[in-house]
Amino acid sequence: MNTKYVFITGGVVSGLGKGITAASLGRLLKNRGYKVTIQKFDPYINIDPGTMNPYEHGEVFVTDDGAETDLDLGHYERFINENLTKNSSVTMGQIYSNVLDKERRGDYLGKTVQVIPHITNEIKEKIYGFENTETEIVITEIGGTVGDIEGLSIIEAIRQVGLEKNPEDVIYIHVTLLPYIFGSNEIKSKPTQHSVKELQSLGIKPDILVCRTEQDIPDTIREKLSLFCNVRKTSVIQNKTADCLYAVPLMLEEEGLAREVCNHLKLENYVPDNQKWEEMIDIIRKIDTDKQVTIGIVGKYVQLEDSYISVIESIRHAGFANQIATKVELIDSETITPDTVKEKLSNLDGIIVPGGFGERGIEGMIETIKYARENKVPFLGICLGMQMAVVEYARNVLKLEDANSAEFSQTTKNPVIHIMEEQKAIRKKGGTMRLGSYPTVLKQGSLARELYGKEEIQERHRHRFEYNNSYKQKLEEAGLICSGTSPDGNLVEIVEISPENHPYFVGGQFHPELKSRPNKPSPVFVGLVRATKNLKEK
Ligand code: GLN
Repeated sequence: MNTKYVFITGGVVSGLGKGITAASLGRLLKNRGYKVTIQKFDPYINIDPGTMNPYEHGEVFVTDDGAETDLDLGHYERFINENLTKNSSVTMGQIYSNVLDKERRGDYLGKTVQVIPHITNEIKEKIYGFENTETEIVITEIGGTVGDIEGLSIIEAIRQVGLEKNPEDVIYIHVTLLPYIFGSNEIKSKPTQHSVKELQSLGIKPDILVCRTEQDIPDTIREKLSLFCNVRKTSVIQNKTADCLYAVPLMLEEEGLAREVCNHLKLENYVPDNQKWEEMIDIIRKIDTDKQVTIGIVGKYVQLEDSYISVIESIRHAGFANQIATKVELIDSETITPDTVKEKLSNLDGIIVPGGFGERGIEGMIETIKYARENKVPFLGICLGMQMAVVEYARNVLKLEDANSAEFSQTTKNPVIHIMEEQKAIRKKGGTMRLGSYPTVLKQGSLARELYGKEEIQERHRHRFEYNNSYKQKLEEAGLICSGTSPDGNLVEIVEISPENHPYFVGGQFHPELKSRPNKPSPVFVGLVRATKNLKEK
């Protein structure tokens, strides 16, 4: 079978859930037995979002192979349950950088290097990169909104794909917004018409419209959209804001999205095996929302929920697994001091201190962890959160008052978290950051071992600093157990307090949230929510 290409563009406004549409379609095609992958093109000039401020761009999602990518890859993985790679995240920065490298090497043989064909060829190379693999359908989401200057060369490249491939091997889906005017009780189709016109002026005729709406789309509007946008009426797909994110694929199934895609791509529209997904949604919907546990995320990027999107989703997944509703509160760690800690945190059933970089808000995190430890509030520390748990324990239990991470103090006599020089050389990508998936061996009889139910696990990393082994013996004797290490025992990956002394206190040097899926929740999140639920029911 020829590789099939599905392109998803967005119109009218950003933030319409293009990523969720791509992810949902991926799920529906996978449920029909097709081998699907999803890829995102981002129009910005950064090489990757790794150096971007989370306030601007939300969380940095990390793949198994260590790529720092757009958070939409998280949605893709959660919906299609596949581990993606660096090939699934492409920025214009990477495209330009590759083209400039080739120019310096003389690969263009003295030609003038131009957007067309050199940049567009480089883009197409990334799109065609899945040919001759087992992937049958490549879904490519184009970041931004049609008409953005930055995105023009990507739109041009996907237009050329339509020209180069057979018509039945390429489909264009345009995701738009149908605004609703309250006063006149009307859904408006005009912005969509304009957006389609813009797309057509760039040489692309959309085959399917996915229309985000708060109200059901009346038949008259479907007809109008069909006529004015030159799209079959059956291909006008309603994408109504859903009560549950994970119900979107089923909603789009009912609307016929996958059927239309299969028809256009001349693919057999096999009866989808949606049963497991439906059962999962049934379980989610049965959760009694009157009873809930509140989990606080005490971090530094709380102004933008997207900064912690995978952590928030992982809490939800753990709630599904424990059959309990979860409420998430984002709390700015800078506001936590010895004076405010009680007032700010006393309504929480569980606490997470998530990952982060830089000194701001650190002392508030340490205060938060002290509160969780002393008041026996279930706690999960993620990466920086784990490191701060070690600092807190060293300061307040071992009484090493100046204990700190070398990230924040060069002068401390007790750098309980530090950089291991010998690690630098062996790190992936030659950088100083430990990025991507690494194995952890769990200690027999530990809480971590019980949670994961196996001896060796793989989790994803994104950090520079590590637990300082010179403090290991003292910390363990004082009750902070190292329950997971790298197979050679050199890198401490998990610390925990014995369940005999605390209802739940676990810190991981990795980011467990990056591998949590609605139907395969992360064990350390499940454990956290279970502990909060048990305490609540006592
Ligand atoms: N800043 C810390 C480090 O570099 C933690 C990173 C993180 O939380 N992802 O090690």
